[in-house]
Amino acid sequence: MLRSFNLSARLGLLMAACALLSIPLIATAQTAAPQAPAGGYGGMRNAMPARPADKDYDLLLKGGHVIDDKNHIDAIMDVAIADGKIAKVAKMIPASKAIKTVDVTGLYVTPGLIDLHTHVFVGNDINQYRDGTWSVPPDGFTLRVGVTTIVDAGTSGWRNFEVFKGRIIDHSITRVLAELNIVGDGMGEHEQNTDDMDGKLTGALALKYPGVIVGVKSAHYTGGDWKPYDQAEIAGTMAHIPVMIDYGSRRIERPLYQLLEEKLRPGDIYTHMYGGSRGEQDSTTGGPGKGMWEGRQRGVYFDVGHGQSSFYFSVAIPLIKAGFVPDSISTDLHVDSMNAGMKDEDNVGDKFLAMGLPLKEVIADMTWHPAREMQLASHGLDLGNLSVGAIADVAVFGMRTGHFGFTDGGGALLYGTKKLECELTIKDGKFVYDLNGREFKPWNVPPDDADRLSRRWTSLRVAAFGGNPRPITATGAAGAARPAGQGGQGGQGGAQRQPQPRWSAYNADANGKFTVRPDAKGPVAPGKAKYPPAVTLETSPSDVWPAKQSSN
Ligand SMILES: [Zn+2]
Repeated sequence: MLRSFNLSARLGLLMAACALLSIPLIATAQTAAPQAPAGGYGGMRNAMPARPADKDYDLLLKGGHVIDDKNHIDAIMDVAIADGKIAKVAKMIPASKAIKTVDVTGLYVTPGLIDLHTHVFVGNDINQYRDGTWSVPPDGFTLRVGVTTIVDAGTSGWRNFEVFKGRIIDHSITRVLAELNIVGDGMGEHEQNTDDMDGKLTGALALKYPGVIVGVKSAHYTGGDWKPYDQAEIAGTMAHIPVMIDYGSRRIERPLYQLLEEKLRPGDIYTHMYGGSRGEQDSTTGGPGKGMWEGRQRGVYFDVGHGQSSFYFSVAIPLIKAGFVPDSISTDLHVDSMNAGMKDEDNVGDKFLAMGLPLKEVIADMTWHPAREMQLASHGLDLGNLSVGAIADVAVFGMRTGHFGFTDGGGALLYGTKKLECELTIKDGKFVYDLNGREFKPWNVPPDDADRLSRRWTSLRVAAFGGNPRPITATGAAGAARPAGQGGQGGQGGAQRQPQPRWSAYNADANGKFTVRPDAKGPVAPGKAKYPPAVTLETSPSDVWPAKQSSN
């Protein structure tokens, strides 16, 4: 459940005007995240250099523990990437076959995480989710925790989706997909207005944007009638996409079991499964409430949707003990949940580790399971797995062990001993987050061929600003000025930035051979880069929970 709206902040009539004026937050997002062209991020700045004939792969992740639910892999494997796609997963792939090899020994390697419940339609409306300040800009909260794909769960509706797309979806590094709210105005002060719930208009817009609009959402409804759910099903059936339900207030006129047993189609999604306020939990036994098992048997998916106050250990632990485990683990990310018990996708996953789910199950619930739930393959998006040919979204995690506390929507505490820590995030075959600089070399080690060809595998290499800390950036690998109006240096005003000579730790001779300057010798000898010590992999907790239905 979300916090109630401040009625004094009704700004509906001003919405369109506000949308036109919503500049500051978005300018920041654009500066950090220019729109990806079809060919990938590197292609925007420079044409991609050719891969040498003796190299089969752009990037090789070597020695990590791969967890890939779709392909039933839970073992030490190498992962090779070429042209933004998974090229090979095998016990031993020679480093000589790749332009760049990163040692990920002691770390877990998974598909890029998919968070199917977020709110990222950020804008200028005060105290609103849609086009407002209660949403968050995606790239600030996703890449750093291994999430490469998110689904915005109904923050926009058919009236304002195109504003959302033009401002956020098209300008984020994170792959942002959307469920359209059945309310035309989206998630805001008109949520209870049944006159603005139109299944046909919602379905028609979804059909206009396949591959971006992947679902329909109904949320927070307090009325006792079925209109939001019936209209959502009309839209979902028309556009061949699933419907996600946040079941709002508990009403005796529309009991949960009737929704799960009659109204929802197989493949629809019930989010906030451990919220407990609409009958998800049986008040006598503590186990699943009436209709929960029946819904699951019919093929309804159950999603966590943690949020600020939609997840309680007192609901989740008894339900999990009864075998009612999640189909997908999602955050319900917004400004309040991320600063409360939810925090981020990895932290929500950690809670399920603390409650005893095996790591491979938790990873599956954040990768392959949500990909299937959202039917991403039907949109041409081969995500959530590491099959050859799949989109090369990959996350690399360390597992911290120690004494950690996790809190829920009611402030209850559960202790745990494990914490996922995202080390690397790769999207479309390119680094988009690197906690410990694993893709880089020490400051006083000269560039090599991999650096010179880095545009094939690097999207966020540090800009040189006309200086020259790495000679490869002199050709503009990361420092190219953006077009006017998109922010960044060289943007507004049109003034040309003058390159400033910088002291470099190495010199290049006329043949392009690099040598370290004598005064740049440091504690790290060239070629002896020391990465942070790898953690010791723990074996997964024993499979104490009943296995779910087959994953494939
Ligand atoms: Zn939500």
